[in-house]
Amino acid sequence: MAGRDRIGVYPGTFDPITLGHLDIIRRGAHLVDRLVIGVTNNPAKSPMFTVAERIAMVEREIADLPSVSVVEFDSLLMDFAEREGATLILRGLRAVADFEYEYQMAGMNQQLNDRIETVFLMADVCLQPIASRLVKEIARYGGKIDKFVPAAVAADVAERLGRK
Ligand code: ADP
Repeated sequence: MAGRDRIGVYPGTFDPITLGHLDIIRRGAHLVDRLVIGVTNNPAKSPMFTVAERIAMVEREIADLPSVSVVEFDSLLMDFAEREGATLILRGLRAVADFEYEYQMAGMNQQLNDRIETVFLMADVCLQPIASRLVKEIARYGGKIDKFVPAAVAADVAERLGRK
């Protein structure tokens, strides 16, 4: 019923979207009625792709998931979640490396808004090591990235690096 839908947001930089992200999106989509992927600019990470490009890449990859949408956000995560009417924030948890940062962020977000829960999901074991940062590094050195990102994304990265 409209208004009672369970809505989740999945925030991130998605520079670019990987098979790890997509696995989390598919798992997350089962937990909520609507999942809104929030793409943040994050200039501190010196992205390879603009927000508009990253959104277009995500849109292309979620085309078969009717309950999933993607928007840009440039605000406090809790404000973004509230604006979308979300009660859940989804985050993917990889190895221990992610834990400290995620723990701190979830804890502080809880202080900011206790009505919105952060939920951590694990990607398929084979996809857990994938990180956008490493995908870009491998591609810059001429390595193959097609095991880590969708084919169209691998082509976009190659083009950005002037290899196509
Ligand atoms: P951020 O800049 O917020 O870390 P990312 O785009 O790097 O954004 O990641 C968004 C979310 O997806 C984060 O919660 C991150 O831990 C998760 N994530 C990224 N890659 C994977 C993966 N391979 N397995 C599980 N979770 C992942």
